[in-house]
Amino acid sequence: MKSINPAHTTRFAPSPTGYLHIGHAFSAMDAASAATDQGRLLLRIEDTDKGRCKAVFEDAIYEDLAWLGLGWELPVRRQSEHFDDYQSALKDLDRLGLLYPCFCTRAQILREIENSALAPHQHMNGPNGPVYPGTCRQLAKAEQKRRIRNGEPNAIRLRTDVALKGTGALTWTDELRGEVNATPEIFGDVILARKDTLVSYHLACTWDDALQGVTLVTRGEDLFPSTHLHRLLQALLNLPTPSYRHHSLLIGKDGKKFSKRNQSFTLRCLRSLGWTKQQVISEFDHLKAWHL
Ligand code: GLU
Repeated sequence: MKSINPAHTTRFAPSPTGYLHIGHAFSAMDAASAATDQGRLLLRIEDTDKGRCKAVFEDAIYEDLAWLGLGWELPVRRQSEHFDDYQSALKDLDRLGLLYPCFCTRAQILREIENSALAPHQHMNGPNGPVYPGTCRQLAKAEQKRRIRNGEPNAIRLRTDVALKGTGALTWTDELRGEVNATPEIFGDVILARKDTLVSYHLACTWDDALQGVTLVTRGEDLFPSTHLHRLLQALLNLPTPSYRHHSLLIGKDGKKFSKRNQSFTLRCLRSLGWTKQQVISEFDHLKAWHL
């Protein structure tokens, strides 16, 4: 788990929506391993989803990581305290003419896909589910304004194809895969903000990685597809591109990756059973790696 460049600034960026499990421990320690030899390890709390994030889980993150023997720089950036930053990034994208409000509900989108000329199974699925069929793309400005004035809830979507035309081909460097061609079009017109969650994970994460001077993003392979989009957002917002390392995920004996819903492998559960940090680390090797 040694990094090629020893002086990286890297980060661990959990969302406090549950207790950390053994997979998070692996991920946090992978980030820490890249920050040795004068590197910097940052901890970022990704708590933009007010409905799902809880203070009790955030407190547990600090406690569990300290138990693992990890140290990080202070102050910790908590995304919920920086919505203004993300709003200004959204304004920049809007000024480029790349955003539009979308009033569709999930059910309407599925119906639209069902009714489209393509059979539902031919419709493209993106990393976050079915690719948006573009219903609200064509709405006239006056109509958009009228519906917003009427208080209709809306999301903000990116005109991904137009954005890509402006940036041209994009690549990033992945420590394990080498140079990767970015294909953000797999997301279609992705949501960057909603009425209830004022910024998407993608925008907040990309913005913060740049703002915090992160030079190596380490995270699980389940987030590999997201990097395609993050690379596009960097190009649009004139942000630097860090290197990436998407590590394998730990999986349980049932062949499934650990989830926050599965309590038995949370660090606090293992601790209450008397496990030591060393035992957690040696368990990493027993849990098979999972590849995309
Ligand atoms: N907050 C994300 C999560 O908990 C991780 C984001 C990242 O590492 O880019 O899944």
